[in-house]
Amino acid sequence: MVGMMRQYELVECVKSYDPSADEDALNRAYVYAMKKHGSQTRASGDPYFSHPIEVAGILTKYKLDAASIITGLLHDTIEDTDATFGEIKTLFGEDVATLVDGVTKLTRIQLQSDQTKQAENFRKFVLAMSEDIRVLLVKLADRTHNMRTLKYITSPEKRRRIALETMEIYAPLAERIGLQEVKTELEDLAFTHLHPDARDSITTRLSFLRDKGTELIDSIISELNEALERGGVKALISGREKTPYSIWRKMQRKDVGFEQLSDIMAFRILVDSMEECYQALGIIHSQFPMVPGRFKDYISTPKPNGYQCLHTGVIGPQRHRIEVQIRTREMHAVNELGVAAHWQYKQNHSHDGKRYRWLRELLEILDHTSSPEEFLENTRLEMYADQVFCFTPKGDLVSLPTGSTPVDFAYAVHTAVGDHCVGAKVNGRIVTLRTVLQNGDQVEIATSKTQHPSPEWERFVVTAKARTRIRRFIRTRQREQYLELGKQILERAFRQANMELSEKGLEGVLKQFKVGSIDDLRASIGEGLASGQEVVHAVYPELKTQPKPDSKKIAPISRQRTKPKPGARLPIKGLIPGMAIHFAQCCHPLPGDRIVGIVSTGKGVTVHTIDCHTLETLADEPERWLDISWDEDNQGDSHVGRVKLILNNETSALGTLTTLIAQNNGNIVNLKIQNRSKSFFEIIVDLEVRDARHLTNVIAALRAASVISSVERAQS
Ligand code: MN
Repeated sequence: MVGMMRQYELVECVKSYDPSADEDALNRAYVYAMKKHGSQTRASGDPYFSHPIEVAGILTKYKLDAASIITGLLHDTIEDTDATFGEIKTLFGEDVATLVDGVTKLTRIQLQSDQTKQAENFRKFVLAMSEDIRVLLVKLADRTHNMRTLKYITSPEKRRRIALETMEIYAPLAERIGLQEVKTELEDLAFTHLHPDARDSITTRLSFLRDKGTELIDSIISELNEALERGGVKALISGREKTPYSIWRKMQRKDVGFEQLSDIMAFRILVDSMEECYQALGIIHSQFPMVPGRFKDYISTPKPNGYQCLHTGVIGPQRHRIEVQIRTREMHAVNELGVAAHWQYKQNHSHDGKRYRWLRELLEILDHTSSPEEFLENTRLEMYADQVFCFTPKGDLVSLPTGSTPVDFAYAVHTAVGDHCVGAKVNGRIVTLRTVLQNGDQVEIATSKTQHPSPEWERFVVTAKARTRIRRFIRTRQREQYLELGKQILERAFRQANMELSEKGLEGVLKQFKVGSIDDLRASIGEGLASGQEVVHAVYPELKTQPKPDSKKIAPISRQRTKPKPGARLPIKGLIPGMAIHFAQCCHPLPGDRIVGIVSTGKGVTVHTIDCHTLETLADEPERWLDISWDEDNQGDSHVGRVKLILNNETSALGTLTTLIAQNNGNIVNLKIQNRSKSFFEIIVDLEVRDARHLTNVIAALRAASVISSVERAQS
């Protein structure tokens, strides 16, 4: 903790570049953080409190506003002490509380060593979380200090993880928002821990070269200076060795050894104007041979992060290969501090007091880029707005479209997790499955082997994967229901025809119904595509010759009981004995209904309900009307009634329907789907009931079911 900033030093430092900074809040934050962290210590043995102060100190180098500095001081209090969001909000305002909360969320993510392939996702996540880019700047300062003190962490595994995370996530992010200096430092520190041997050999070699020519850099600088002065350009030149990491990367990229890598020296030329940049470049190129392929003009085409500079490589003074960068002082400030510099500039020049949104500014910079590559970069960034990034309890990152729910999350983790999910916890709290997930949420899915996708889910999921799985499940489930229903209808149809139902018999007619298996046949009957009666007639063609009902107004889907069983007494009074009776297929009269008989020559009597529409066409033939009534002492065991239903198009709807009918002692004899839309099924069901009252009871029970939107007795 050598040189730790004292309270008054920190405040003075902030005031020096921002005289309007809230001195009182800074002081209170300093004391608050010190109290909260109390006697906690760092791995280095320093009091923990030294860390947030260092972080705040780093942030003053970026000349950030007081809220950012305060956030730096408080950034670990929510995570590591008993401080809460609410308390910080009360003491320091919502702005600071939100910033601290954002940094806390970033702190909670951890890159597992096997997740480097997910690094781009993590970077996106961090950017998405940093809606206010000050969150990211505080996090980068935090990471910088943690990397500077990483050597004190004893666990090699932990050191490696943090270094990897720095290399894969934070250094690239620093570069993306233009913090060149930060990027370089983070990379080099990470490199030290990730490849200690490589770094050692590079530094050893560098120090050897340095010994060989300590004055080399200085003499090259003075030669360059002379050349520029002769050309009339006043410049400030600095020289430096490249960092071990950048040398190592170059060695990797070019597959060359260190011996051949001569341009380990880079020189920076700072001038006053853009014109002088090109002037200086011309002078350098006229004095020293250019190294082909090394010239890049980032002034006319800045990098996506706003970086502007001229790069070139030449065989410089004393035949040394050197890299030269030429830029104005203003460009330099932006290059080293990226958006931070931009922000300062805007801060100082805006008087409307509006808080500046860093990300917007960053996007603005990106908007001004033009090359396809930069455009892509830009588009990717904008894409983050459509994504949320969530975590499994193990810390795995799951990126989802905005609006995603725990069900989407579950399916993204694994289809089995999605299929069996019963509930979810978000950040430790139980939530409903339709809850919309937010960035940084940690999502825990509860599963149960007996749970299956609910059609309800389809209404709120947003990912294609979840939707497809749910639909597929519904289709399978629907087929199972059709199958069961079809099986029942078939059994009934054969029983009623007094014919044997055998698999062999059914197999013989599969082709006729254009289906591949008995199950397919059952399903198509359940779905109403074929009737049980048709199958009976297909298996036993001789039955077809029986007389058909006389009503032509509706396609008969049920033709049973056209004749009373031999020996059974008729349930109807008022008939001439021996006369054949049929129950009309249009109105399906039931005991309890007021009825009328219509005599057809050669066909006997057809029984209609008194309000049947068919009777209207017979009004001119009163001679055919026969007054009949139900024999209340002898109503037979069952009659077929017909209902018309509108079902919601949901998996459970058919199941509910059949269950309710069975519960009310009805039997489905036949079922026909008349219309099918995205939301509804229109179905006609013939069912066996005792009488009209029984049917009314069944209808009442069906009306109570939420999946059935309407039920009525069919009146064709
Ligand atoms: Mn920290």
